Amino acid sequence: SMITPPVGVALLGATGSVGTSALRVLERHRERFVPVALTAHSNQDALQEQVAQFSPAYVGLVAPPTDELPEDWGKGRSCLVEAATRPDVQIVINAVVGAAGLEATLAALTAGKRVALANKETLVMAGQIVTDTARRHGGALVPVDSEHSAILQCLAGREPSDVRRLIITASGGPFRTWNSERIAQATVSDALRHPTWQMGSKITIDSATLANKALEVIEAHHLFGIPYDRIDVVVHPQSIVHSLVEFVDGSVLAQMGVPSMELPILYALTWPERLPDAGVPPFDLVGLGSLTFEAVRHDDFPMLALGIAAGRQGGAAPAVFNAANEVAVAHFLDGRLPFAGIVQCVSAAVDALGTMPGDTLDALLAADAAARDYVNAKVGS
Ligand code: NAD
Ligand code: MG
Repeated sequence: SMITPPVGVALLGATGSVGTSALRVLERHRERFVPVALTAHSNQDALQEQVAQFSPAYVGLVAPPTDELPEDWGKGRSCLVEAATRPDVQIVINAVVGAAGLEATLAALTAGKRVALANKETLVMAGQIVTDTARRHGGALVPVDSEHSAILQCLAGREPSDVRRLIITASGGPFRTWNSERIAQATVSDALRHPTWQMGSKITIDSATLANKALEVIEAHHLFGIPYDRIDVVVHPQSIVHSLVEFVDGSVLAQMGVPSMELPILYALTWPERLPDAGVPPFDLVGLGSLTFEAVRHDDFPMLALGIAAGRQGGAAPAVFNAANEVAVAHFLDGRLPFAGIVQCVSAAVDALGTMPGDTLDALLAADAAARDYVNAKVGS
């Protein structure tokens, strides 16, 4: 149910791509939503500017770059949980990148909050535990990821038994039309040139390898309770159809919109209701021209099948896949690993460590740590 306004919002990862989009959404709907807590990793200047604009009651910086931090700011990793569990917070937008967001999601759900989740890595790592925690404590887990927002909107409350198939769209990334030799030699700046979305660097690389789509298939499996053999991926270069649901009677619903994260962010805040004005330009089908769809070139983008296989394997395998990918992407961005080395590292890590125990949070954290060590050792740092 829609909570009586104004609703207190904690925004974790406020200085990032999703974080700054979320602040635009909150600003546009300031009579309904109040950002009461903001956190960031280490960009103190950017966070300081946001604090000046929004005057949140709580501010936290995970890794302060200097000692000159305002004395009332929270510091260190614990600031995420502090922000997420405050009594004046009803909705937590988790826009942190990577496994670092897990603890705060679990804490917020345990405190019965709504979590508007952009931080897909943590659903991949610990999907069962996160969804169980939401169920057990009455917290709601609402996706911010545009594909999952689309599926949520198409499902409109129908049960998994009404669904024949989820169809997740993928832009195909910057290398959609490149051949495998050219992809293997792609530079960091090639891989950072995403055709349709402006995003943080980690997810932009994941979109070039298609690791992002593997993470999203696993995310959809956990969010919607649909088995892997009923989740398909199709390439749609224009990023207008955000995903589709095929029902048991053969009817297919799609959700469309111009590519802007502000719409799925707003929907995650208001779900199942809608508010006017997501700040997106008018939708003009004729102006868009044509919408096209094509098959994934699995041979040239092996990361997608690798990640889905890790999801199917279950246990610690998805956590290993995710952690190995996080570290490999960081090495690629730092110039220590060629583009083709990302999937090689992740594949080797899943082979070596995917069968580690994965039935508890501690086991998953151990698998995550082992995968990071494994890739670091392989890259030689
Ligand atoms: P980004 O790199 O632009 O921003 C990340 C934010 O998280 C920053 O505010 C940073 O300070 C903070 N952060 C980074 N490491 C942290 C740590 N260890 N502890 C605490 N905070 C930390 O990333 P982004 O593109 O905004 O993506 C954020 C999340 O949203 C990712 O999980 C991504 O997959 C997901 N997502 C992003 C988009 C998009 O359009 N950017 C779309 C869908 C999903
Ligand atoms: Mg997405």
